[in-house]
Amino acid sequence: MVNENTDTFCFMELVDSQTYRETVERCRSISATAGWTAAIDWAHGWLADTQGKSAADVLRALERTPMDASLIRCLEALCARGVEVSVVSDSNSLFIAQVLHAHGVRVPARMSSALAAASKIALMDPAKEPGAGCASVARVATNVAWVEGAAADGGPGVPRIRLSPHDPRPVGCPRCPANLCKGRALHAVLGTAAGAGAAAPASPAPSRVVYVGDGSNDLCPGMCLRECDVLLARKGYRLAEKLAADPASVRCSVRLWEDGSELAALLLECAVAPAA
Ligand SMILES: [Zn+2]
Repeated sequence: MVNENTDTFCFMELVDSQTYRETVERCRSISATAGWTAAIDWAHGWLADTQGKSAADVLRALERTPMDASLIRCLEALCARGVEVSVVSDSNSLFIAQVLHAHGVRVPARMSSALAAASKIALMDPAKEPGAGCASVARVATNVAWVEGAAADGGPGVPRIRLSPHDPRPVGCPRCPANLCKGRALHAVLGTAAGAGAAAPASPAPSRVVYVGDGSNDLCPGMCLRECDVLLARKGYRLAEKLAADPASVRCSVRLWEDGSELAALLLECAVAPAA
């Protein structure tokens, strides 16, 4: 939905370019052994303790994350057609709620109350509330974020963002990082069964799923899609490279896109075309 990596975008907005490069470098090094979520959790503690940047500063910086206007209009059109839009992301619950809220997209109630609680601590303007007819996101599967420290629990120091993995115990998927198997998360979002031994589906499968992705961790959900579904992969990114190397890894049809307006056009096309 956004062109930026929200994790690193807020660092770029909050510290000078040299410190930004060092922070990202340190995150990569922590990530190599502990995973990206643990690395970003470390970075928010470091931002608060050594740079004095609070959760409020991070959330305000995230408000400035650009979102393609054609994609927002596309989301509104999809919602008006009754298409359910959900997010499966390796970002985190607070960041997704903040960025979507800042662009007038309604998020699930549990997420907006968590953002409101974080905003109160962070003294962020809680006035922006998406109105009727706005785009909305039905479900979100992502890593869990909250605000901790100082005003949050009466302790000293600056309130900071904390993160924990979406999957508290690694699922053991060979294609996904330990913190989030997007294939399993997609099944949870759709309310469908996740393979052999899984519980019975909670709801009937949707007539068609259109999944948008770019990273290598989007291959796993792509492999869960059926012949009638569509995988929209971003040109020049890891998902498209993996699909080009092994087209038979997915059963669904694959379409490539390059920017927000091309993606918006493809999404609208998929919404009106009958399922194959
Ligand atoms: Zn997986």
